[in-house]
Amino acid sequence: MTTFSMKNAVCVLIFSLCSSSVSSSQAKPSPGTPASSQSTRLTVDATHAPEKILHAQLQIPVVPGENTLVYPKWIPGEHGPTGPIVDLTGLQFFANGQRLQWRRDLKEMYTFRLTVPQGVKTLDARLDLVMPAPPEGFSSGASATAQLDVVSWNQLVLYAPGKPTDQIYFTASLKLPEGWHYGTALPVSGESNGQINFQTVSLTELVDSPVIAGKHFRRVPLTPQGPIQHFIDMASDSDAALEMPSETIDEYKRLVAETGALFGARHYRDYHFLLTLSDHTAHFGLEHHESSDDRVAERTIIDDDARWVAAGLLPHEMTHSWNGKYRRPKGLATPDYQQPMEGDLLWVYEGLTQYLGFILTARSGLWTTRQFQDETAETAAALDHTVGRTWRPLQDTADAAQILYGSAAEFEGWRRSVDYYPEGFLIWLEADTLIRQKTNGQKSMNDFCHLFHGGQNTPPTVQTYVFDDIVNTLNQVVPNDWRKFLRDRLDTYGPGAPLGGITNGGWKLVYDENASELTKALEKNRHTVDARFSIGLTLDNKGAIRDVIMNSIAWNAGIAPGMELVAVNGRKFSPEILREALKAAKGNGPNVELLVVNGDFYKTYTLNYHDGEKYAHLVRDESKPDILSEIIKPLARQ
Ligand SMILES: [Zn+2]
Repeated sequence: MTTFSMKNAVCVLIFSLCSSSVSSSQAKPSPGTPASSQSTRLTVDATHAPEKILHAQLQIPVVPGENTLVYPKWIPGEHGPTGPIVDLTGLQFFANGQRLQWRRDLKEMYTFRLTVPQGVKTLDARLDLVMPAPPEGFSSGASATAQLDVVSWNQLVLYAPGKPTDQIYFTASLKLPEGWHYGTALPVSGESNGQINFQTVSLTELVDSPVIAGKHFRRVPLTPQGPIQHFIDMASDSDAALEMPSETIDEYKRLVAETGALFGARHYRDYHFLLTLSDHTAHFGLEHHESSDDRVAERTIIDDDARWVAAGLLPHEMTHSWNGKYRRPKGLATPDYQQPMEGDLLWVYEGLTQYLGFILTARSGLWTTRQFQDETAETAAALDHTVGRTWRPLQDTADAAQILYGSAAEFEGWRRSVDYYPEGFLIWLEADTLIRQKTNGQKSMNDFCHLFHGGQNTPPTVQTYVFDDIVNTLNQVVPNDWRKFLRDRLDTYGPGAPLGGITNGGWKLVYDENASELTKALEKNRHTVDARFSIGLTLDNKGAIRDVIMNSIAWNAGIAPGMELVAVNGRKFSPEILREALKAAKGNGPNVELLVVNGDFYKTYTLNYHDGEKYAHLVRDESKPDILSEIIKPLARQ
């Protein structure tokens, strides 16, 4: 999964069995798929999606007597109990036309009980999903606009607990507003009367296969030559926003080729990027085996800056098809959606995905070498200024993932956020440089990926792993004390971020007065001002202070997150006024005076700061080979 966070420059670029066994998240209709009479029939009416309500009818096979039904709570890829239970409305049950009473469990809000009369084999259920959702969040965040909708099936189903969702079957159909088109990885059996009828699949596969639909829709085939098809299915609030430049399409074609070269096998039948372009939906990415739900601002692919700032999103989410879906930590491979997930290996699930996603972004040409370097510098500098590491080791950010995704931006540096994404990038970069050093460039993380994620092409399936499997596979690539390497980086308190990958890679993290192209693009796209590495402040372009780095000059003066900067040196705040004041203060210049409002009270803070603006960059260390550039060279034949 990917969330968009201010601290971690790019979208932190922000979704069983024992470790050696293979689970059967069978995706395709297999010989074991039951007759449709044994499956729940699910009919979703999305014709009112623009009014933010979806209607669903379910025909659920039941046995008479006491029945329990549950609504999915722990959503794959979201690593937390994020099923939108509060928006489940209109719930009614009928048997033979008679309405049945139901009662919710008093301790588990996602569980419902009812008594089915004798002789009844099929329970009729009706429910509505209302979508007043805020623009924040993941799949339970805003999903529908006047022009488009993303249907996440987990939000529209009830099921009887007790069996793995691999063994519960659904036959779904979907009705869309007239004139809308759709994209999905879910196999279609046919269309009639404006209704799309899908093949009978397991509940696992249904939840793994959302549908994107809209009035403004475009499908871009990436590998028409086959044998495995890849598509970008785009829905937007306008036709203009769908005009992906042809060179960008070529770069996504190269991305597909580069994933093949990196992993050596694919574990899907075909793959759909479901790309939503809207200013009125939540913005994030959520991975699935055969698709990804990728949501960005409307003009992202037609605005040069916005396009490259978001360029890491699709490579990240596609990487998850291998790292996260096919290979999944045992604690995240729960048999159904009610059992809690354990996030302790998210520094692999998300951290290695962050690393591989970024290098794939560069290898495919979606980023230039400079853009990759800027991103690396930004990641490293942000983490090197994360004071929260003095109390919270990286491991705890993964252990606490289910509560950290929803945490506020305020005090993020002291609390720490889902740092296993960006710090995972640094750790896996360091591992890659070490492997290359120890083998004189003969081996790399590419070999790890072949061993760990490759094998034969398969349909979607899950192979779980534990910590020791990571250590053992690294040792297969090159013997080293990998356990100590990893634990040292997961369990300790700093002082700074792990920067060995940058220094081993032949580069140095430095600061100067010139904002990188990445910093400028981020400030423009996110409407923010980045003064973290100078006075310790992050704020929006209206002056609202998001975070203050603890022990920075602003923090020590008494400025805190949640306050608002209203004037600089007696003049009304603007981003330019603040930057000019920092420049003017350099050397023998005047102190910087910040007028700040805290609730109803104004106060002036004087910063005795004379070092000027500071922004992060990588510069070459000519005493060492340039491994960093070697890492991002394309692997696939052009
Ligand atoms: Zn992810």
